[in-house]
Amino acid sequence: MITILRRPTPKNVKKSLTFLLSSQFWELVEINNYQLKKIQSLIKHAYEYIPYYRRIFQQKKITPDRITNLDAFKKIPILTKKDIQQFQNDMLPNNFDRRSLSVNSTGGSTGMPLNFYQDESYLQWSDAARLRAWKFTVGATEKDLEAVFWGAYRDIGSTITLKKMLYYVLREGILPLNTFDLDEKILNTYLSYYNFFSPPIVRGYASSLYYIARYIENKSIKVKKPQAIISSTEILHTRMRQTIERVFECKVFDSYGCREVSQIATECSEHNGLHIVFENQYVELDGQDILITNLNNFIMPFIRYKVGDLAVAINTSPCPCGRFSPRIESLIGRDNDNIELPNGKVINGEFFEFLFFGMSSVIQYQIIYYKGADRLEIKLQQNDSSENVWEMIKKTMAEKFNYYNVYVSYTDKFDKTPTGKLRFVYMVD
Ligand SMILES: [Zn+2]
Repeated sequence: MITILRRPTPKNVKKSLTFLLSSQFWELVEINNYQLKKIQSLIKHAYEYIPYYRRIFQQKKITPDRITNLDAFKKIPILTKKDIQQFQNDMLPNNFDRRSLSVNSTGGSTGMPLNFYQDESYLQWSDAARLRAWKFTVGATEKDLEAVFWGAYRDIGSTITLKKMLYYVLREGILPLNTFDLDEKILNTYLSYYNFFSPPIVRGYASSLYYIARYIENKSIKVKKPQAIISSTEILHTRMRQTIERVFECKVFDSYGCREVSQIATECSEHNGLHIVFENQYVELDGQDILITNLNNFIMPFIRYKVGDLAVAINTSPCPCGRFSPRIESLIGRDNDNIELPNGKVINGEFFEFLFFGMSSVIQYQIIYYKGADRLEIKLQQNDSSENVWEMIKKTMAEKFNYYNVYVSYTDKFDKTPTGKLRFVYMVD
């Protein structure tokens, strides 16, 4: 495939990538020393410049010079999504002009929208970590073409023409499929392009990969075999992995990350736990709750952030792949359904996360689709009514999916699974 027209990887990202390709084989002692140093400088910065952290450190009588080991670090209180919603303005350094910062937001993988800020260094290290995880760890290179089943490519729309696809293939190195807008016609057209370009890498939301694999199998469509498949953003259950691997005749590499801190952990060729991106994240478990400290964002540091997902354990034994970085075992959480509407449209659960991007008045939401009754219910908790969320949802569902049976209720009570986990998009038969 011609790669001369490809948008080049920025120099600073390449520099970080070179570092990451070598550091991934460090021994545990080196990893621990590196993380402690990064944590110490982050804590010093947070204590000196960030009002929120200065206040809680003082309350707990923590000073930067006391963080002499990783156990001392664990005395810092856990940061919750509620804290971020409440103290957001106090979480930025008082020596920066905030107009120069780039704002990011999440609709909330647990149905709780957040706004947060990230700086250049954070973006550089995140981009490099993604390149390592999604290309090099699975045996590919930067240049290899990827089929991407993702919701972010909204501009592709329902008409996927060869011209549009060629642009993405040549310029971006991806063959994109917008999983927020799928029906049979789109899927068939896309799969013919897929077979034509035959990308060595396939990447997508776990639920999208699974949905498309089942579609291919049910319709007995022949698809080209890729070199590797990367599943991300959602939990990859065993039955999903088995179906995807059977249909594409190819191994699946699970990958874990979130918008707040980016890439967190990636599976290696052993497929036995996900290696933590230790250069960017310090990961701990509080019981089964995953806590993340991002080591490269000094603008709005997330220190011991409770991300909302669970894991069974962190394995620190060396991996047969040659890496010593600890591995997250058995992720639990982020379990969203695809919603199948009677008009043939399929909505990926992540779509609602995008829908709520940047809506600061929404504290929590939950979407339930009652299939038998053909009724979409949206439970909302809002801290003020300045944003007309109800109108926005109705309008989007009508325009995008030609769907009108939408009901909104305002509440602070949300349904949980028997294990106590809040699922934010699910379907009831
Ligand atoms: Zn490994």
